Amino acid sequence: MPNISRRAAELGTENAFVVLAEVNERARRGKDIISFCIGQPDFATPANVQEAAIRAIREGKHGYTPSAGIDELREAAARYMGRMRGIKIRPDEVVVGTGAKPFIAYAILSVTDYGVGDEVIYPNPGFPIYESQIVACGAVPVALPLREAREFAFDPADLEARITPRTKLLILNSPHNPTGGILGRRDLEEIASILRRHPDIWIYADEIYSRLLYTGDFVSIASLPDMFERTIISDGASKTWAMTGWRIGFASNPLLAPQFVRWVTNTDSCAPHVCQWAALEAIQGPQDEAEAMRRSFLERRDLIVSLLNRVPGVTCRTPGGAFYAWPNVTEACRMVGAADSEEFRKRMLSEAGVAVLADIHFGARVAGEGQHIRFSYAASRVAIEVGIARMAEFVSGNAGRVKPDGNR
Ligand code: PMP
Repeated sequence: MPNISRRAAELGTENAFVVLAEVNERARRGKDIISFCIGQPDFATPANVQEAAIRAIREGKHGYTPSAGIDELREAAARYMGRMRGIKIRPDEVVVGTGAKPFIAYAILSVTDYGVGDEVIYPNPGFPIYESQIVACGAVPVALPLREAREFAFDPADLEARITPRTKLLILNSPHNPTGGILGRRDLEEIASILRRHPDIWIYADEIYSRLLYTGDFVSIASLPDMFERTIISDGASKTWAMTGWRIGFASNPLLAPQFVRWVTNTDSCAPHVCQWAALEAIQGPQDEAEAMRRSFLERRDLIVSLLNRVPGVTCRTPGGAFYAWPNVTEACRMVGAADSEEFRKRMLSEAGVAVLADIHFGARVAGEGQHIRFSYAASRVAIEVGIARMAEFVSGNAGRVKPDGNR
């Protein structure tokens, strides 16, 4: 039998999809499961965007587009990304992709070489594709621990300590998956002041949740002095306009855009033509639905955080953005006799019918930071109320059975 490559055999994944299969399997067997696993808006794409796609189909927009995307969308995305960040971005610095996700690999592939020890620093916990793509692309993953005491930002000293002459790229993600944390102006200024001493390091600013921010204005590191040229800004349509399945993202960088175009030619050829016209309407059309979705997420954030903080053994910080809550369940694990967050997650699924992800799905647990689980609160109010009530019952019900010595 021919073998598969080590690269393929060892390729990481988004464990959300693995847990999702587990949840679906139980649901198929008739179990009543409330799921907080899926990281996508629970809204339909706005009607004006749907109409734009239908129009594009009827008008015969069926063929390939340039690999960089249609000019109209590049221009609109450049204006939009620049306006939000208070910077000037030129259309030829923007590349349209099949979602924002492929730009993670394109960026790593464009600034590191395979197997020579080039290092990429990425947030931990973090979107699991960062680590899996760093490894698959033959670079060395260097995890940067996030700190609950800093609202899940990292300590700049931790960044400084991880920079070596081999560091090629720093991945930032704000608002952040899975913690909902944000990097505010002060955090970003501290990061920028470190990076100014290391002019050869690129920055990948994953800003896919830029419009789902609940306090203050969005700040991008690209807007700080000396940072623009070295920063790859990544944003897209998925989260802002409830368009995850349409697969449209955009990335910008003045030096790397031509490389990204070449990667797109080598992979997807171009992003889906019809969807590009839909994304153009999403950017240029009325924004009231996007704003209504954001307000709805904010209400649900406030609901889930207040309910979680009433569950015995659970403390939950108020996330500043995205649609994730990342409660600390260290004490709840102890109360129910679960060895860690993963056992807690599994038992909550089988005993309480509540599906969440555990911290280990987002990287190795950070020493000293305790146990966490992730809720995506892109779920209905009723699901949030019933789901957290079930969780509270699960913890209280099992806590009674813990013997004083901690053994069940
Ligand atoms: N970055 C982060 C942090 C994400 O959470 C996601 C989606 N879950 C993406 C990128 C990819 O988004 P897209 O649908 O645009 O590929």
